Amino acid sequence: MSSTTTNWAGNLTYSAETVLHPTSATEVQQLVAQWPRVRALGTRHSFTDIADTPGALISLAELDPAIRIDPATMTVSVAGGTSFGILINELEKHGFALHNTGSLPHISVAGATTTGTHGSGDGNGILSTAIAAVELVTADGSLVTVDRTSEHLPALAVGLGAFGIITRVTLDIEPSYRVRQDVYRFAPWETVLEQLDDVMASAYSVSLLADFASPTVMQIWLKTRLADGIEPEVASTLFGGVWYDDSEELAPENVNQRASVPGPWSERMPHFRLDGQPSNGGDELQSEYYVAREHGVEALEVLRTLGTQISPHLLISEIRTAAADSLWMSPAYQRDVLCIGFTWAKHPAEVAALLPVIEEALAPFAPRQHWGKLFHYGAGVIHERFPRSGDFLALQREYDPQGKFWNPFLERTLGPR
Ligand SMILES: Cc1cc2nc3c(=O)[nH]c(=O)nc-3n(C[C@H](O)[C@H](O)[C@H](O)COP(=O)(O)OP(=O)(O)OC[C@H]3O[C@@H](n4cnc5c(N)ncnc54)[C@H](O)[C@@H]3O)c2cc1C
Repeated sequence: MSSTTTNWAGNLTYSAETVLHPTSATEVQQLVAQWPRVRALGTRHSFTDIADTPGALISLAELDPAIRIDPATMTVSVAGGTSFGILINELEKHGFALHNTGSLPHISVAGATTTGTHGSGDGNGILSTAIAAVELVTADGSLVTVDRTSEHLPALAVGLGAFGIITRVTLDIEPSYRVRQDVYRFAPWETVLEQLDDVMASAYSVSLLADFASPTVMQIWLKTRLADGIEPEVASTLFGGVWYDDSEELAPENVNQRASVPGPWSERMPHFRLDGQPSNGGDELQSEYYVAREHGVEALEVLRTLGTQISPHLLISEIRTAAADSLWMSPAYQRDVLCIGFTWAKHPAEVAALLPVIEEALAPFAPRQHWGKLFHYGAGVIHERFPRSGDFLALQREYDPQGKFWNPFLERTLGPR
């Protein structure tokens, strides 16, 4: 296989026979019809083997993004393999915006939405909640469009790559907006936990950057959506944290401007810049668990009791929120969630040993997991946690009777079809 044999972080070598690079939807249709086992490959940013297949991986990177903005319906349509970075720059150029982004803009629109990727914000659904329609190549090579008039869209919007190769995605848009990012350092954990709901509601999108062994939350990042012409004052302290001018230590080639400088949504909602390497440059692993908001404080308290076990392997934990949705395999299905992310040092054995410990400790809160990040749950737990998983399997069998898009990851996490 080519250089795309590993995922971005290099913790996984795909076992697929080959990676194919079609240049048109018609070619995708021919390839899907020919191959008995196929999966789409996005930008390879998942840490799990969710994309893998014993057959052929199909990358849509060579397809024209063909971004079409429709101001009448307030939607944009884009080729599935296009990165969010290309899409958001084009939207901003024309005065439009998405409601949210993930931390990095490098990920493909189809790959990110199909795994339930999210940003933060109490009122913000995961990115897939903006999907108005998907166009996909199904198992027999047909090109099919599924939109909001179909009861299948809530399954396909977080479809785990299991229904076909998504060639185009149509997303809701809104008028462009400006955002200011403020950073507050060293808020005491006690204060943050006492007022967690207020902390997470203190801006349009809030992230806590923390280590569970430390007495303080290292940084609180607020992304404040600015009303036209109004620039609210920046408080010098917040929840015991102190405003911090991080402009001196910003890595401008990697990280979007903070230090309270307002800017367009496309340059503030993602943490990282498209033309730099995100996060720890791939020298990392990631996991993420989502608990219902009412269990958020208790879940974080439990993780603090494991702080000294977690800390030697943790680069940083990022804690965010997402609004409840109706997408069957979404971690936020029918519950507002606190998203507890772990960016691990590249210590695969130690992380593999820690995940069951964390999952056991969080079990009373019945967390769901990020599909693209490392976890230890098997099918039994996942069926308990995702109440529509049985319906998902039944619909997947309808779309894909021979199991062309089924793979070892789905078999392990959802059991036999
Ligand atoms: C540094 C870093 C930061 C991250 N930050 C966030 C974050 O802020 N929030 C968050 O929620 N997640 C985050 N993630 C996780 C990431 O968003 C997901 O793993 C996402 O799936 C990656 O998209 P991708 O294009 O790389 O997809 P891949 O990893 O290539 O594939 C993921 C899945 O999508 C399927 N797929 C890809 N393209 C298509 C298609 N055209 N049609 C059908 N199925 C397809 C694949 O078959 C596979 O099942 C982060 C990951 C990294 C590495």
